[in-house]
Amino acid sequence: MNKLQQLLVIVMATVFASCSSVNTLRNPTTQATLWVQNSAEYEAITTQIYVTALRMLPLAKEDSYWTAYPEQENTDYSNLPPAIILDVDETILDNAPFQARMIKQGKSYNTEDWNQWASEAKADAIAGALEFTQYADKEDIQLFYITNREHDVENPTRKNLEDLGFPVSGGIDNILTKGERENWTSAKTERRKFVARNYRILMVFGDDLNDFIPAKYISGQERSHLVRDYSAYFGRRWFILPNPVYGSWERAMYDFKDELSSKEQKQIKINRLDTKNEEEN
Ligand SMILES: [Mg+2]
Repeated sequence: MNKLQQLLVIVMATVFASCSSVNTLRNPTTQATLWVQNSAEYEAITTQIYVTALRMLPLAKEDSYWTAYPEQENTDYSNLPPAIILDVDETILDNAPFQARMIKQGKSYNTEDWNQWASEAKADAIAGALEFTQYADKEDIQLFYITNREHDVENPTRKNLEDLGFPVSGGIDNILTKGERENWTSAKTERRKFVARNYRILMVFGDDLNDFIPAKYISGQERSHLVRDYSAYFGRRWFILPNPVYGSWERAMYDFKDELSSKEQKQIKINRLDTKNEEEN
């Protein structure tokens, strides 16, 4: 290789390196992932949610007519033992490192890489979640973790939760994964029903509307209406954690058409930016 060729190689390498770092920053989840991993504010918000819930818990436990499951209201539930339902990902476990890997590797979410991350059992606890669940456990409230992690990764998920100190090792399997039973779909409805059969549900925790009510495949506007319809639940019986990285809020923007190219999805998102300026919208 002569000097000129060597120079050319260096120039090309530099161009490629800067392109890839630019692409990394262009990944739509970068800013949100940085916020989750670096802002004290995120920690403060999740702590605030769990502290509020903890203060509300004695009231929920003592009032035998208190339920966080709307369909339970028409049943004879007041003598059932108390339980709390929690989603796992981005509700009690922080998977931002998985997102960070995807950004650095120039990938987007895929089941193979996700299950690999889940099987490593390395996720940290979301701030506030541990103190809350340990307190509820001490108060003899049964915890159920309803997660859309697949049944294949239930054991590493249990290990991850156990290592962190979440109450999991009771007499019953309290980690209800997707596909663990035939009708346990990602909608979570059947699993909530399953818990409600034997327990009075005091509280529900999640980062996606679907963790509380069936909210799949409906528009952003309908999702908004649901929140207004159930406004009396939030902050008392339902506690929602922030997830700016992913969720059905994002998929609802492009009508759950996952088959669209990232370019098409990006265009739809740009169209969704409301400037309150007639000509632009
Ligand atoms: Mg979640």
